[in-house]
Amino acid sequence: MAEYICSACGYEGNARRRKRGSAALEWALWLVLLFPGPPYSIWRRVGVSKECPHCHKETIVRLNSGEGWAVKKRMDRELGLVAESLNQPSNSAVRQFEEIKTKKPVNPDQW
Ligand SMILES: [Zn+2]
Repeated sequence: MAEYICSACGYEGNARRRKRGSAALEWALWLVLLFPGPPYSIWRRVGVSKECPHCHKETIVRLNSGEGWAVKKRMDRELGLVAESLNQPSNSAVRQFEEIKTKKPVNPDQW
């Protein structure tokens, strides 16, 4: 089962399939005019796009894609589920390394 994540609201789960056009027009074409009904129905179903069932935007991406993974990371950080300090150890390690680099070398003869 495909899992999706919305990059607008952070919704996780299944995406809703959204057909283009309108159902009312489809009904009218089938019932009143009959002829344009089938092509219109096909046209609507060919252009199916995925939308978020929560905010109804087409900003929903597959969770197991690179973009979905990045969105999940961002949402987790925004919700505070993942501490911002996860990136800190590497940053502080870099800072310590630069401090070491900028320290003057000690000459043992001056001691
Ligand atoms: Zn959404």
